[in-house]
Amino acid sequence: MRKGANFSINETSRECKYLVWTSANGLGNRMITLVAAFLYAILTDRVLLVRYGADMIGLFCEPFPDSSWLLPKNSPCWEDLKHLETHESLLMKNKVNNSQDELLPPFLALNLTHIHVGHTNLFHCDRSQDLLQKIPVLILWSNQYFVPSLFMISLFRQDLSKMFPDKDTVFHHLGRYLFHPSNEAWKLIQKSYEAHLAKENERIGLQIRVFNIHHPPHQTIFNEIIACTLQNKLLPELDMLNSSATSPLKKQTSKAVLVVSLYSEYGEKLRTMYQANTTVTGDLIRVYQPSHEEHQNSNDDMHNIKAWTEIYLLSLCNALVTSPRSTFGYVAHSLGGLKPWILQGVYGKAIPDPPCQRAKYMEPCFQYPPEYDCRANKTIDFPSIFNHIKHCDDVSSGLRLV
Ligand code: GDP
Repeated sequence: MRKGANFSINETSRECKYLVWTSANGLGNRMITLVAAFLYAILTDRVLLVRYGADMIGLFCEPFPDSSWLLPKNSPCWEDLKHLETHESLLMKNKVNNSQDELLPPFLALNLTHIHVGHTNLFHCDRSQDLLQKIPVLILWSNQYFVPSLFMISLFRQDLSKMFPDKDTVFHHLGRYLFHPSNEAWKLIQKSYEAHLAKENERIGLQIRVFNIHHPPHQTIFNEIIACTLQNKLLPELDMLNSSATSPLKKQTSKAVLVVSLYSEYGEKLRTMYQANTTVTGDLIRVYQPSHEEHQNSNDDMHNIKAWTEIYLLSLCNALVTSPRSTFGYVAHSLGGLKPWILQGVYGKAIPDPPCQRAKYMEPCFQYPPEYDCRANKTIDFPSIFNHIKHCDDVSSGLRLV
């Protein structure tokens, strides 16, 4: 790739076009945006390159045979990109003076982060795509699963309906194509799986993400999880009268509970609860929590490997309970092809009623989607015009494919 200063559009028209993915937020956010970027690159005939720092290098195998998706170290896209023109400013300019193609920049920042909502989010408009397809190098900044936007663009509709007759499986298929654990991550996954999960009859995953880190309502969330798992018969009630001990004919099953959280107390409390008591069904419950990092530290490679290991282990479970609004949970359930029970948001000490709800779909939620009807120039509720787009179970203003 050549430097921007002497990079003219005519010169490059016969060359490859690129989409450069850059990382933002935690691993879940990064993985949902990578899948969205991959699909956008396929639809627009662009080469997908990833701008990985040391914190990402050790996580995945290269997905494309005989080529590397790593942004070359000598690429100008490693430079400070703060002053790069954005697609919004280009769209504004283009609206005003209908720019000639020769005036278009060779590199453009494509900002699809959550701050672009309402009338400033125009990526899903056909005219944005007409313009973007003329730019050789797009550098993507995003923390959102913007795949539903791609289904709104008329240019892509035919290809998408051929690629995904079942629209609820986009992440499941693309994620399983892209994300293969590196040897280092695979060793950890294998070791944990064989030692703690493989031998049990069933595996129940609990993903507990606490966003309120200043006043974490741990006890209320713990009570909510117990209410959710008991009400939905994912875990058995405790046998306070010790009655199951008297029924030796009952077939015992064993369940592994995989607890995934930054905090140790969830695994510890649950383990103590099931070690100190028998269950009414006679089932044996074994609780396993692989790590408790205490704090998010997304710039650290080992921290990210642990996060990836746990996402992968969750995806191998038979049933999942996940936390609302968590992209970490979205990746786990979508990779696993599972519809999780999603916990309700906790406010104060009361346990929500019901404590959790079964998701109807597998796709991740696009939490901050566009609200602008490009043709009618007014705000719109997209589910009212697309029957394969609905509001999310956990974020009522979000959108997901169904
Ligand atoms: P989200 O914030 O829940 O949407 O998920 P992200 O994955 O984008 O960001 C949260 C980050 O915090 C993760 O990527 C991990 O780095 C860390 N983290 C959060 N929960 C856990 C957990 O249960 N286990 C581990 N190992 N890390 C976690």
